Amino acid sequence: MTTKNLSDISCQDDYDPNSMPVTQARHFIRDYLTRLTATETLPLKQALGRILEGDILSPSNVPNHNNSAMDGYAFHSHDTAATALRIVGTAFAGKPFDGVVQAGECIRIMTGAVIPAGTDTVVMQEHTQTLNDQMVMTEVPKAGANVRHAGEDLQQGQIVLPQGRSLRPSDIGLIASLGIGEVTVYRKLRVAFFSTGDELVSIGQPLEEGEIYDSNRYTLHSMLSRLNIEILDMGVVADDPQLLEQTLLDASQQADVVITSGGVSVGEADFMKLLLEKLGQVVFWKIAMKPGRPLAYGKVGNAHYFGLPGNPVSVMVTFYQFVRDALLYMMGQTHLQVQPLLQMVCTEDIRKLPGRTEFQRGILYPDRNGIWRVRPTSNQGSGILRSMSEANCFIVLDEAVGNVQAGSTVNVQVLEGII
Ligand code: AMP
Ligand code: MG
Repeated sequence: MTTKNLSDISCQDDYDPNSMPVTQARHFIRDYLTRLTATETLPLKQALGRILEGDILSPSNVPNHNNSAMDGYAFHSHDTAATALRIVGTAFAGKPFDGVVQAGECIRIMTGAVIPAGTDTVVMQEHTQTLNDQMVMTEVPKAGANVRHAGEDLQQGQIVLPQGRSLRPSDIGLIASLGIGEVTVYRKLRVAFFSTGDELVSIGQPLEEGEIYDSNRYTLHSMLSRLNIEILDMGVVADDPQLLEQTLLDASQQADVVITSGGVSVGEADFMKLLLEKLGQVVFWKIAMKPGRPLAYGKVGNAHYFGLPGNPVSVMVTFYQFVRDALLYMMGQTHLQVQPLLQMVCTEDIRKLPGRTEFQRGILYPDRNGIWRVRPTSNQGSGILRSMSEANCFIVLDEAVGNVQAGSTVNVQVLEGII
């Protein structure tokens, strides 16, 4: 697969690195990414969340026989007018009736049992009356009723799940229903990350004045864990050029992707820029968004690099808006599930300047009438991690949008199931 050269793209003059629109940054990153090719074969139960390397084809028809959808009596549709049918045997799921059913006869049949030879219709038990070996229908079904046909679910040779599919619980069951016990998936993506900042202290050590605990590594670790990724936590690194260089090189040699947080904002940017220019090809953007304005992206050695801002909320927002999709793409997922964007009525005013995309932390909630609405969390500061904890969605306010009045409709990205 050919990828564009980073320097070519960064030199294109329709990109302004000081005001990069969100969608343009996403496209830029996508054009430059490469996919994993290495695979491994796993027992089915270990394949949840992993990505299929090839199509799964159905080796047979599912179900492989016509069978009954009901508990009842199987008979031939020629006999729908008969006053009574003689019960000549029973068919259980897994224990078929061997004989051939004749005109004027029927078979007691259970759900899932093979439709006996000589029958084509099932009358449900609730629509019958029996006396000794005679069955009378109180309601006559249509010809062919209550029969599940061979191949109705899947036909032999049909693509059941396509290459690039991220396996969900239903998929694992579906593959098992075909009698397939192993699947070939792409190997796990390896992602290394570290936090940068002189003020950061790891948990377990006392805080001196002006110091804070490093939370970004914990957030990143958790967000990556959700994606079935092999994680390399490289710790906290002080704002020291030599230490940073060494850690960046180590990380890029061990991982497919390196993520850092902090040190890409104005002031520190020049310093990180020098380092990254020396070690790789990296572009620095001020994304036209809030939060998450500074973002660096590129390559260090063979590893893809994301330099996220330091603010805890910005880390999460930039991860969800840029990194998550990029990682899924690299992991081999072909049908990227575009996150649904819902239109919801917002019940509070929101102040917003046009010219940048805002990702407000929002709360989706049912109002008194049970209708779902959205409101922003109380504090939207990019350092207020609690706002992410309270939120179950992002309220996405596009560049062109200004102030939002209570009662207007806004775009909402649901986070449940993702975060
Ligand atoms: P920076 O992008 O390095 O200028 O950091 C922006 C803000 O985020 C500063 O207030 C930092 O103290 C804070 N910050 C940076 N890294 C972390 C981290 N790993 N955990 C918590 N806060 C951080
Ligand atoms: Mg810093």
